[in-house]
Parts: sequence; C-alpha cells; structure tokens
Amino acid sequence: MIEYGHFIGGKNVAGKSGRKQDVLQPMDGSVRGSVALASRDEVRAAIENAKAAQPAWAATNPQRRARVLMKFLELVARDNDELADILAREHGKTLPDAKGDIQRGVEVVEFALGVAHLMKGEYTEGAGPGIDNYSVRQPLGVVAGITPFNFPAMIPMWKFAPAIACGNAFILKPSERDPGVPMRLAELMLEAGLPAGILNVVNGDKEAVDAILDDADIKAVGFVGSSDIAQYIYSRAASTGKRVQCFGGAKNHMIIMPDADMDQAVDALIGAGYGAAGERCMAVSVAVPVGKATADRLVEKLIPRVESLKIGPSTDPSADFGPLVTKQALERVKGYVDLGIKEGAKLVVDGRGFKMQGYENGFYMGGCLFDEVTPDMRIYKEEIFGPVLSVVHAHDFEEAVRLPSEHEYGNGVAIFTRDGDAAREFASRVEVGMVGVNVPIPVPVSYYTFGGWKRSGFGDLNQYGPDAIRFYTKTKTVTTRWPSGVKEGAEFAMPTMG
Ligand code: NAD
Repeated sequence: MIEYGHFIGGKNVAGKSGRKQDVLQPMDGSVRGSVALASRDEVRAAIENAKAAQPAWAATNPQRRARVLMKFLELVARDNDELADILAREHGKTLPDAKGDIQRGVEVVEFALGVAHLMKGEYTEGAGPGIDNYSVRQPLGVVAGITPFNFPAMIPMWKFAPAIACGNAFILKPSERDPGVPMRLAELMLEAGLPAGILNVVNGDKEAVDAILDDADIKAVGFVGSSDIAQYIYSRAASTGKRVQCFGGAKNHMIIMPDADMDQAVDALIGAGYGAAGERCMAVSVAVPVGKATADRLVEKLIPRVESLKIGPSTDPSADFGPLVTKQALERVKGYVDLGIKEGAKLVVDGRGFKMQGYENGFYMGGCLFDEVTPDMRIYKEEIFGPVLSVVHAHDFEEAVRLPSEHEYGNGVAIFTRDGDAAREFASRVEVGMVGVNVPIPVPVSYYTFGGWKRSGFGDLNQYGPDAIRFYTKTKTVTTRWPSGVKEGAEFAMPTMG
C-alpha cells in the first residue's frame, strides 16, 4: 500500500491532519494506497517554506532557472515509463494515452525554457526631454495551482513550469484521486536542482483548497476542474485580491459539413469522443451533422465503429480506452445514459452492460451513442464526461454555428469540411475559445495559449504560452530623468512628455 503524504520544503512528509482518502486503481477497482488530506496548518507550513525560499530563486538569473527545467526534462524522459505506469494505474487511461498526457506537459516545460527572453521588458529612450521609460516583469511571489484528476501530469506542468521559470514559488494542490504523478514530478524537480521549497505539493480536498484561497501570502491561483468549482474558486480567491484564472467544464461540438470526408470525420469522432473514456475537457461529446443525408451517412458509419471499440485495462497497450476514474463516475455517466433515454433521445449503441472479463471490479463501460439529441435535453446541456457521444442534427450551416455559440460552455469546437470559405467563416464567428478545422481536438501548441470561453473559463488570461508569463509576473514601469544643466524648479501641472 502506497501512502501519499505531502511534498513540502523539498521532502516527502507524512500527513498530520488524521484525515486521508483511498487512492484507487480503476482498472480492477482495488485500493492502491491512501492520500493524506491536508489541514489548514499543513497548507500554511508549505506556504511558509515557499515564502522563505522564493526571494533567492527570483534572484537566480533566468538562464539558470531554465537550466533546472532543462534537467527536469531529461529526468522526465528517463522516468517516462514509470510515470506513465503510475498515471495509467491511478487514472485508468491507457499507457499510450498516459504518455500523451506527460508529453503535452513536457511541451509547456520546453516553452518555459525561453523564460529569459519571455520576461524581457520594454525600453523607450527619450520618452520626453531627458526622460527614459522602461518596464520589467517581476515574479509575484508564492502562487498556487489546483488541478483536476483527468490530466495528472500535463496540467500540473502547465501550471508550475511557467510559474517557477518566472521566479515564483509554487504550491500545487493536485487531485486527490491520482496524486502519484504530481508527487513524482516534484521529486524530479528537486533532483533537477530546484531549491527546496520552490515546488511544494499539498494533497487534500476542500479544506486545503480553501486554505490556499484565503491565504494572504498566495498571490495568484490557477485552477482547472469543473465549472461550478471554477466559479467558486474564482470569486473566493478574487475577493482576497489575488490574480485568478479558472478553467472549467466543456461540451465540445464537432460540425460535419455535407462535403466532409466522412471516413476522416468518423475516425476523428471515434478518437476524440471515446479516447480516455471521454474524460477529457477537449473530448468531442456532440456531433453535429449538417443536413439529413449527412446525418444518415454519419450515424450509419459510427454505429459499427462504436460497437467495436476495444475496452481494456489501462496496462493493455492495444485497448482504445480503459475504465472510468471511480465507481461514482461510472454511475453518474450511466445515469446520464438512462436520462437521455427518458428525455427521448435514441440510444443506438448501448455500452452500459459492458463487463471486462477478469476485471469485474473495474469501473468499465462500453461506448454509447445517442442519435436525435435536441438542445433542450439535459444530456445536451450538461457535461457527461464519459464515453457517450450525442448526435444533434443541424439543418444548415447557420444552425451549426449557433449550437456551440449558444451553449453555456465554450471550450473547444471543430468543423470538418473541404470548403475553406465555410471553415473560415465558422472559425471567425463561433463563440468558442479553441477551434479546429479538420482537427477534432484543437489543443493549441505550447507557444500559443489554452483557454475556453463562457463557463469554460473564468478570468482574462489563458494557460501556457505568452499568457502564462503575463499571469505569473507583474509589470513594473520605471520613468527616469537625469536632469542636466540649470534646475527648473517645481512643476504643478500634470507632467506630460511635451
Ligand atoms: P473537480 O472540479 O471535481 O476537481 C478539481 C480540483 O478542485 C481538485 O483538485 C479537487 O480537489 C478540487 N475541488 C473539488 N471540489 C472542491 C470544492 N468543493 N471546493 C474546493 N475545491 C474542490 O474536477 P475533476 O473531476 O477533478 O476534473 C474534471 C473536470 O475538469 C471536468 O469538468 C473537465 O471538463 C474539467 N477540465 C477542464 C479543463 C480545461 O482546461 N478547461 C482541463 C481538464 C479538465
């Protein structure tokens, strides 16, 4: 049995609160270990450690800070198989998918290597007579990240790599469901040369989160998780004057135009709809064929593909997807399928009865496909977060633009077409933060930025890319004047640059 405590001041420390929770292995439903749930005092201890360590780290020149991240990348590559194994066992996703989770985080660390360049300020010589203006970016101090279960490698790296590269100290509160990878990443950062106290992992639940939100020494909070919690964290942390960026849930649509290559579109839907058992914030959960003929062709091709999805334990490299994360998640998703039937949607593939031979206690279900879903149904409005795809028919292009635009979530959207004009107009008009054209999961590369609109994102700056550097630094602008010659005396009018 593994016992996860916390990683504070460069050391693994046992939890002291007396509260802990099981860490499960979803592929067979067994208990893998336990995770300590931190008290307010334990969170405070981590913050004090971080606060003491941060000034020296901020004073370390940015190239040296980047070198620690460079070494960290080497160590992540060295331990890639081990990290993927922990990830697959605690989350339930397959090993190849776990490696993708790690890789997408690694790419943001690679971006953060450029911090010396990214943090450069601006300089204007001669902004006025004898006056120069310049700006510098300085770290905020101690910042925190609160992350979800579904990308336990990628999202912690999205948060801590840019923050630490900028000279901040970081408190990570990962999901209590799969803490193993975040804990290993913190150990690897230390091994890479990061000073103790700069990256702390505090495991816990609402008590630990609230302690972070209320602490005056935390200057910024980045959150990723479900929308109601995102909104709660956004308002509570902002009320204490912190910078906050919170990313929430999603309902990502994929539009299939009549001229789309149907085989490509079906392949894309199968991968993006059912990969990771649909437990991705960028999963496609709504397919929108335009016109009846497109819908008929799409559903006809989708049915056999959904029926033949290969579900397997996380350690089976040939599985398309593995189990869901917990029994409660499984029951919730199956509950949505029951609800969809009651609401009048047509369940054309029913995966509810799937049992994994030899792994009867695992949290498995087969892929489900609904046809004739309408926008008034709860299965359309709400995030299901499971291997369930809904087909919603659109009569024309206008309706296809309107559906994702009017949905309360606005994370990702895709259009499949061969018509450049339709694609261009769609990308321009749709009210969603990330758009794919013949790309089903449009997660931007690490030097752009990631963020949804509406209830998928609270705050004004995105994650990773240049926005992350802005989020984790504050700008100071200096106006200098070195007068020469005769002093002119006091000026009482508002100074201008003439
Ligand atoms: P979650 O909201 O349950 O948990 C996220 C984090 O918040 C965890 O660390 C958890 O411990 C903490 N938390 C949970 N309840 C809390 C409470 N009442 N008060 C304070 N903190 C609390 O989300 P999850 O189930 O771990 O992750 C799945 C969700 O995350 C989905 O909705 C998914 O769409 C979303 N997600 C969004 C993005 C994005 O970038 N938009 C990326 C990945 C996942």
